[in-house]
Amino acid sequence: MRINRVLLDRHTIADRVAGIAAEIAEDIARDVGDAHVESEDPKDVTLVPLMTGSVIFLADLIRHLPLMMRIRLLTVSSYPGKATSNRGVTIESALPDDLSNQHILILDDILDSGRTITAVREQLLARHPASIKVCVLLRKKIDSAMAVHADYVGFDIEDEFVVGYGLDYDGYYRNLPDVVTLTQSAMA
Ligand code: 5GP
Ligand code: MG
Repeated sequence: MRINRVLLDRHTIADRVAGIAAEIAEDIARDVGDAHVESEDPKDVTLVPLMTGSVIFLADLIRHLPLMMRIRLLTVSSYPGKATSNRGVTIESALPDDLSNQHILILDDILDSGRTITAVREQLLARHPASIKVCVLLRKKIDSAMAVHADYVGFDIEDEFVVGYGLDYDGYYRNLPDVVTLTQSAMA
């Protein structure tokens, strides 16, 4: 047995992702302007999803956002192999060079130590964007995660290692549609 417990099932996730998209769309309309693809003169925004963990969240979220937006993937690594705690953040891809004056939304799967979001935000700020917001699907109920500002949070969860819906253990389980915890033997 590898799956221990289903923490968030696919339907619960889908409902919340639609809710987050509605919040994002409302804020963009208010703070940036009309960004709908069919507008006369749509404002444009840049989504910066952190790979690989946010890949499923990204695919689901953007289909609720018919906006003029660019997607600039950043590959960030902090949990090499079987590590289940942050081992230092490495940005493995080149930063996009077309971010000046852009309204950026950073997208990640989970906020834990907060080091990933803090490092990425700092690097992106150096590109002189118009604004930076942060959206995470999950946030652990621990001080380090709560201390980092996130504009959109899908779910606050207990401090345990989870996989599925994009999140991995040693590269596996990203394809599971639910967010689950693993058994001891699966993490051996
Ligand atoms: P932080 O830098 O906030 O500690 O961690 C953010 C990154 O660590 C996430 O993007 C994710 O890749 C990884 N991470 C943190 N907690 C978990 C977890 O419970 N499960 C998995 N699979 N990855 C996690
Ligand atoms: Mg990640």
